Parts: sequence; C-alpha cells; structure tokens
Amino acid sequence: MSSAGSAGPPAGRLRTRSSDGTAPSRRDLSRPPSPEPLPVSVYDNHAHLEFEDGVDQLDPLDSLDRAGAVGVRGIVQVGTDLETSRWSAELAAHDPRVLAAVALHPNEAPRLAARGLLCEQLSEISRLAAQPRVRAVGETGLDFFRTAEDGREAQLESFEAHIEIAKANGIALQIHDRDAHDEVVATLRRVGAPERTVFHCFSGDAALARICNEQGWVMSFAGTTTFKNAPALREALSVADPALVLAETDAPFLTPEPFRGRPNAPYLLPHTVRRMAEALGEPLDEVCARIAANTERVYGSWDPEQRVAA
Ligand SMILES: [Zn+2]
Repeated sequence: MSSAGSAGPPAGRLRTRSSDGTAPSRRDLSRPPSPEPLPVSVYDNHAHLEFEDGVDQLDPLDSLDRAGAVGVRGIVQVGTDLETSRWSAELAAHDPRVLAAVALHPNEAPRLAARGLLCEQLSEISRLAAQPRVRAVGETGLDFFRTAEDGREAQLESFEAHIEIAKANGIALQIHDRDAHDEVVATLRRVGAPERTVFHCFSGDAALARICNEQGWVMSFAGTTTFKNAPALREALSVADPALVLAETDAPFLTPEPFRGRPNAPYLLPHTVRRMAEALGEPLDEVCARIAANTERVYGSWDPEQRVAA
C-alpha cells in the first residue's frame, strides 16, 4: 500500500457523519466562522478529515488551509478501520501538514472478531504502522459505553495487539477511553505502555490526571474542555503536568463552545486552546508554544525532510 509515486492525495470523503448513528437529529449544520488566529501555531493531534459534515463540502485540503490560516499548522489524521487507516496513511504521505494514526476502533473490534477478520486486519494495521508518516497507532482502547459485556474480550484482545504494534514500531499510541478508565490503566500497566502514550479526548478527572503524570502518559484535551458542564475536566487540566498536555478537535465531533453541536474541523481548535489558557491562568502564547513542542515530542516532526523525532 505504499503511496510513493502515486499521483496525489486520496480523492473524496469516505464517511458522512449523519450515517454514523450518533448525530442528534436537529443539529445546526452551518459551519462556524473562523476564529481569530492563535499568536503561536499549534497542532491538532486528533482529527478525522474523512468525515463529511455540514451543509457545505469542506474538502480535506481546504480544511487544512483554513486551519493553517488560524494557527493550526498540522494535524494527526486518525483512522478507525482498515479503509480509513489506509486513507489516513495516504493523505499523510502526500501532504506535509498531515501525519497519520492507524487502527481498528475499539467498537469495531468485536464486530471484526465475530466475522473472524480481527487477526487478518490487525496484520494490515501492523504493515501500515511501518510507513514513515504513520506516527501513531490509534485510535484504540476500550469503550464500555458502546460495547456491551459480550464484546469486551475481543475489544481487549484488539487493544493489546495495538499496544504491541505501537511498541514494535516505536511510535505513539492514541487511546480511546470511554467509561473504561480503570481497565485502560490496568491494561497499560499489565502489558507495558509504549513510551509515548496519549489519552485522546481525555475524559478523566484530577485523579486520572495524577496517574498520567506519574506514568508520563500524555493527555489530549478536546472541545469538551470548553463545555459548561465540564469543571472536572478543567480541574484535571490544571493538575496535569504541563509537559504532558496536547490539544485536539476530534473533528467532526465535539465542536467547542460557542458552537457546540455544529460541524467541527481543525480550524476551530483555537477555541479550545484559548479556553485551556484561561483555565490555566497562563498567557495564550506560552500555552500554544508548549502544546506545539509537546506535540512534536510525541509524534516527531511534520517536516518531510526530518523523518524522526528530534
Ligand atoms: Zn476520534
């Protein structure tokens, strides 16, 4: 699946958000305006540009242009199954603003296992993880919200396999943890976490943030940080070791305030970063510079000339 020599970035979108079954029926689908640019540019370390959402068609490359214009200089494009993982690797191979993460989503794992496809697809993820611009295995992890008891064994098997793939390739791990904090922590302790382990869309409290601090695990804060009903998340942010904090959109989901519910894209990350700086009581430019440096430490350089992390 090497993209070397092929003509350009992958064409078209693979998914529509309305078909994923999670979208509220009466969302406002108009695209929010661009925020004021950040004073120092940052990275969105978790986005899904393969999703189409909103009344307009924001092409992946236009989305990256629009992000760049407000100080979001690069993204990690995240796959959730074989098709979107291949697409992510392909986009990263063609666009210097993109690095890729590849994985089978925790909610996919039981379905694949039931069809006898899990092992075979994990092998393909392993092959993709060896590509130079694939810098993370994710999103993987545990989701006890959407997966019932009978699917948990396959989910755990898949999570452990992804951890091994990240370690074997010396790249980061992006964890999806939904209602499964204790089990995620226990699994990482049991099998040994990769050197760079990221809790994508961190949803824990101060207690989990302290565990992450002790273990050197990275916490990525999403649009949920801006939600009025999320004081525990902002408390976790203030407890988190500043060297372990990243920012993300998880676009097209989790749009930050004041646009919650509308289509999300990496250009809206400044809302979350501004709210983070406010919660921390620190100057915005310092918070941005630290997020950018932390992100490059976790994933390496976006610059195609520099293959490996500095
Ligand atoms: Zn995601």
